[in-house]
Amino acid sequence: MHQTEYKFSDKTISCYFDAEFSSLENLVDKDKIVFITDSNIVKLHADKFEGKKFIVISAGEKNKQQSTVDFIINELIKLQAGRETFIIGIGGGVVTDIAGYAASVYMRGVKFAFIPTSILAMVDAAVGGKNGVDVGIYKNLVGVIRHPEFLLYDYSFLKTLPQEEWINGFAEIIKHACIKDEKLFELLENNSLEIFQQAHRKISELIKRNVEIKYNVVANDEFETGERKLLNFGHTLGHAVENIYQLPHGNAVSIGMAAACKISVEVNNFPGEESERVIELLKKYNLPVTLPFGERRSGAIWEVLLMDKKKSGDTMNFILLNKIGNGVVKSISLHQLKELIFQNL
Ligand code: ADP
Ligand code: ZN
Repeated sequence: MHQTEYKFSDKTISCYFDAEFSSLENLVDKDKIVFITDSNIVKLHADKFEGKKFIVISAGEKNKQQSTVDFIINELIKLQAGRETFIIGIGGGVVTDIAGYAASVYMRGVKFAFIPTSILAMVDAAVGGKNGVDVGIYKNLVGVIRHPEFLLYDYSFLKTLPQEEWINGFAEIIKHACIKDEKLFELLENNSLEIFQQAHRKISELIKRNVEIKYNVVANDEFETGERKLLNFGHTLGHAVENIYQLPHGNAVSIGMAAACKISVEVNNFPGEESERVIELLKKYNLPVTLPFGERRSGAIWEVLLMDKKKSGDTMNFILLNKIGNGVVKSISLHQLKELIFQNL
């Protein structure tokens, strides 16, 4: 296990990389812990919860909503959880987002920490302090920014992670490489999902490197006035197609990134060969780069996009690439964006 500290303006958090679940007992008084997890994790890792206090939510993004928070609060009351309670969210991004939010509002806030168990949660959802729920089709519309006390990374959880969740998680890793880290992009080109799945040292280094990228972007811009927007690369379109086609998040973001690359070629002098390299890398990691077959629901996509939180007046901030490893925020008029999207999606 090695500990790294990450400083935010109001808090320093510890990340325990390459740690074991059992080392939790050295970090928190076990009588104070209430775990929040989902129905898959509790089945696959039942041994971890024996004799402990825990709350189980149903797995899946559709449960990331206020009624699940109400359920958690009722369970906390049943467990007689007081102000000294320490909540530990153990699971994928849905669990960490909702556990952080429930912990932030229960009794006006109790302490919490995360044990992320999916690639996506490890490199993205659990890092950065954003916690919350979806409201209908609007993702993460309600929530808080509050950091956990610590993050504990136990890679043995990944042994049970389904293949499609590995693939989804790698969409965010490729995103990080595209906007910030050309060397990481090359590393991904020179390796493969199978290699990362088999080599403990490689996945462990990859995850730490991605936590660092996300942390640096967030710490430089905690209130999302500039650089943090880069993390939305592929996400503006991604969220729209995720909603409309009911795609997994990583798949949707991958389609969004492929379109954003083509748009970057058209309006940002991003070289065509570089765009092809990104698209090839997405394919190499089994991610889709075009919309699923069938009717193209352009009208619906545009409508969801217009509701996007990032829109301001008649322009929208859109993330483009200058080159691989260098993302940029561009304000594009809605009129131009509409054309670009339907030519390139
Ligand atoms: P995210 O992709 O944001 O992490 P979820 O929290 O919904 O989203 O996790 C994706 C799916 O993977 C869920 O069905 C969840 O139960 C499952 N999952 C997460 N971690 C593991 C794991 N280590 N082993 C098996 N399934 C897992
Ligand atoms: Zn994402």
